[in-house]
Amino acid sequence: MGVTTLYELAARGHEAVLFEAQDALGLGASFANGGVLHPSLPDPWNNPGIGGPLLRSLFSPTAAMKLHWRQLPSLAGWGLSFLRHSAPAKHWHASRANYHLATYATQQTIALSQQLNLSFNNRPTGMMKIYRTAAALEKATGFAEKLAAEGLAFEPLTPSQMVARDRQLADAAAQAVGALHFTGDYLGDARGFLLALAEQAKAKGARIRTGSKVLHLMQQNGKVTGLRVRTPQGDETVDGQVVLTAGHCVDQLTRPLGLRLPIRPAKGYSMTLDASALGDDMPVYPIVDDARHISITPLGNRLRVLGTAEFAGADTRLDAKRIDTLKRFLADFYPQLAAKLDLVAADLWAGLRPMSADGKPFIGASRRDGLWLNCGHGHLGWTMAVGSAKLLVHHIDSALGQPPTELPKTLDAGDFSASR
Ligand SMILES: Cc1cc2nc3c(=O)[nH]c(=O)nc-3n(C[C@H](O)[C@H](O)[C@H](O)COP(=O)(O)OP(=O)(O)OC[C@H]3O[C@@H](n4cnc5c(N)ncnc54)[C@H](O)[C@@H]3O)c2cc1C
Repeated sequence: MGVTTLYELAARGHEAVLFEAQDALGLGASFANGGVLHPSLPDPWNNPGIGGPLLRSLFSPTAAMKLHWRQLPSLAGWGLSFLRHSAPAKHWHASRANYHLATYATQQTIALSQQLNLSFNNRPTGMMKIYRTAAALEKATGFAEKLAAEGLAFEPLTPSQMVARDRQLADAAAQAVGALHFTGDYLGDARGFLLALAEQAKAKGARIRTGSKVLHLMQQNGKVTGLRVRTPQGDETVDGQVVLTAGHCVDQLTRPLGLRLPIRPAKGYSMTLDASALGDDMPVYPIVDDARHISITPLGNRLRVLGTAEFAGADTRLDAKRIDTLKRFLADFYPQLAAKLDLVAADLWAGLRPMSADGKPFIGASRRDGLWLNCGHGHLGWTMAVGSAKLLVHHIDSALGQPPTELPKTLDAGDFSASR
């Protein structure tokens, strides 16, 4: 979010500096994520009926979505709001709003990458969601049909049609009752994209300062006037308006202002394998197994297996049981390919999705003058990044009395209000 916001600000003629605590860009949740722009997955993870499975997950070390006992106190308020927003009407409202932002954002990402000639292993493959029971397929088809009325493109596939699209899916198809192919989704390396876009932002005059951690926000008379930052050269105070794009850390920075943001980290894992040995046998499509919360994405000559969600606080340590789950899934789904890959040499990673309690991001003016937000995108951050930056800068330009970029009519900016 930091890089797309920086680029959009620079492209619209604003003077902007990005402060990044780490020594390089893209080491947060984007580092080794799923790499799919997926408007087809707009539904927040607090699906109606989530309460029971979430409570039971306290007792299951390998639950696809897992709550940890020690996190219960810090999740209390957030968790109740998360459950409240799982009511069917609220959940559908958030899904619909996210769908329209994700669709706009995906179109804008593709347009921008063509315009700037960005290269990030991107391909218009769509994405396949695979189902093992008739009940799950029926439920997912019903949801997809509701979104199709909003514009979502999808094709139901029988197991044999799955194999006709990609012969590598033969073993998976034997275990499946069918799949949905979301043809408008898009594959690409999120970190590759953001590094390429950061160069373009610099070319437009924006500045990037890595190794520079924002310590706190400065305020005067209830208005945010800048920030205090610890840089490699020492601590500095920087004046100006502030946009917070600090992923799951935003609440730490707003709390001293008396502003609580219901965003908590939801940990996910990925395992990236060198798949050059597969040659022409490389799978074509990114696939999702919804029931297990696991995906497999082909990225150039790499294959990435990823997923699961843990509410374990801001902890990126690797849990061997979760990695084993990813390995077992790969062996189950693509047994012949898995046998040709070196799983021991896999790059293992865990990242923290910035998950808002109501499942929608915060984009726009906060409840403090001088402070803007672009955060809380959960599992949709790469998908929504370019569109969210455009929406945010639309608000900034409007507030400054400058003609803003036009937004599509389908986008209701109020859905993502940063002062809600
Ligand atoms: C396993 C996994 C798979 C995923 N797959 C997909 C996918 O396929 N498609 C998709 O759309 N999304 C996916 N996501 C979600 C997506 O990666 C996130 O939503 C997105 O990266 C969030 O972006 P962000 O900029 O808000 O946060 P981050 O990427 O975490 O960036 C926040 C940055 O702020 C910096 N920061 C924090 N505090 C400070 C401070 N005080 N001062 C300075 N800098 C600070 C951090 O160092 C970090 O670089 C996935 C996530 C995970 C974990």
